[in-house]
Amino acid sequence: MFGVMAYSKYLILIRFLMAAFFAASVSVSFAGMAVAADPAVTGVRLGVNNGKTRVVLDVTKAVPYSAFLLENPYRLVIDLPELDWGVNEDATARGVVTGMRYGLFRAGNSRVVVDLKGPIEIVSHAALGKPDRLMFDLLPVSKSKYKAGQAVALNNWKPPVANAFPLPQAPPRADSKRVVVIDPGHGGVDPGAVRGNTHEKNVTMAVAREVKRQLDSSGRYQVIITRNRDIFVGLRDRVTVAQANNADIFISLHADTHPKQKTRGASIYTLSEGASDKEAARLAKKENTSDIIGGLDLSQYSDETTDILRDLTRRRTMEESSVFANMMISQFAKKKINMQPYKTHRFAGFAVLKAPDVPSVLVEMGYLSNSIDKKMLLSTDFRKKVGRAILATLDDFFKHMDDLAAR
Ligand SMILES: [Zn+2]
Repeated sequence: MFGVMAYSKYLILIRFLMAAFFAASVSVSFAGMAVAADPAVTGVRLGVNNGKTRVVLDVTKAVPYSAFLLENPYRLVIDLPELDWGVNEDATARGVVTGMRYGLFRAGNSRVVVDLKGPIEIVSHAALGKPDRLMFDLLPVSKSKYKAGQAVALNNWKPPVANAFPLPQAPPRADSKRVVVIDPGHGGVDPGAVRGNTHEKNVTMAVAREVKRQLDSSGRYQVIITRNRDIFVGLRDRVTVAQANNADIFISLHADTHPKQKTRGASIYTLSEGASDKEAARLAKKENTSDIIGGLDLSQYSDETTDILRDLTRRRTMEESSVFANMMISQFAKKKINMQPYKTHRFAGFAVLKAPDVPSVLVEMGYLSNSIDKKMLLSTDFRKKVGRAILATLDDFFKHMDDLAAR
């Protein structure tokens, strides 16, 4: 008995400390940027020689690393201490490499995810000096020779085990404020949609900050944000943030690209087993690859899509999500935010909307592939409008819920 109590209190304390640390580390990183810069990656190069593909990371200071292989799809993941990124290419392809991404994975842990054409082996690796660089040689091998999980490291280095994601940042609810989770899509090693120098992860972060600012200053809501810097957060972890904080609503913000450049306007999505249309299915599939993009090993997870949907709690949550989505559509219209001309409320199997007990919506605010939308998405005016629309939707929604409860 004592053990259990003490343990749970201990956990709460740890979470509180982590949240405090997480919050503190943000301001420090802004203030400290000019003073003590982290080591930086200044270049990423690929070469092919004798059938081997060489990946070279140019760094300002040699840093330790560990690297491992994943499958479904084939990927090489390189973990490093927290680094600045002085390179801004989005995808590089050569030899067995079809693309790569880099960014913050966890606090204290930057990550490079290298997409591979097929099975490979890491045949050699090293940290070299003059100039400082890290080097990995990859050789194609047969499927049967591929060792998923093959891991190498410099001097057995392992990334620090930091807090995985910001679990409860909110103290237990002392008042009647509704808890709202704002989820800026993507982050860190997962840039989301990319158009030129514009990364979806930065667009969503900027909007989320403005939404949080407006909700905070209303004094009516307790706002939790799933990430407050450029860091990777897995889809399940985002759902966990909502559940662990007993959230009353979860709002995920996105700004995708569309194969047709002309396509523009916002759409609001909720969860369902089947998709409302082809575009919804395409988007859900794309958004759901975030964990693969971030270099997570998903083999340990089963696909829990289907049965859960028959659950009663889930069904009520889905109905509430739909009510919220429709209210949001009318508030977006009132605030003159451009919506898709038809099918503004759509549904599909988005992994990030799967909290069974928290009404959840995903907002595609517009398309980075459309030049008018892109300009709009990057404007202060747009962020303010979205903030006002979300605040008004929350007021409408919770009034509706209170009215229902009072009946
Ligand atoms: Zn997205």
